[in-house]
Amino acid sequence: MARKDYCICPTCPTYRECAEKADDRCFCTIGKSREGCISDESPGCKCHQCVVYQDVGFQKEFFCTRGTEQQQRVLSVLEMR
Ligand code: SF4
Ligand code: SF4
Repeated sequence: MARKDYCICPTCPTYRECAEKADDRCFCTIGKSREGCISDESPGCKCHQCVVYQDVGFQKEFFCTRGTEQQQRVLSVLEMR
């Protein structure tokens, strides 16, 4: 099965209808949601409950609003400088 089939984003309270319409999920792979579809992080991120997350050993979250793990790591390194 592909990552997309394991992705639990559609069950996340932060996930929005505009992403569902665009058939977008698996933001750990594709990065931020299109056209800022998802921007409010207050409902929380369920990624840590996902098997893909545990399998890959991700550490970041909110991939739909902050970008992929790698993008977020680059940003945190830049912010530390
Ligand atoms: S880690 Fe998050 S974005 Fe990636 S497949 Fe799982 S629920 Fe989806
Ligand atoms: S990346 Fe995290 S916050 Fe965004 S929809 Fe998926 S589970 Fe929810």
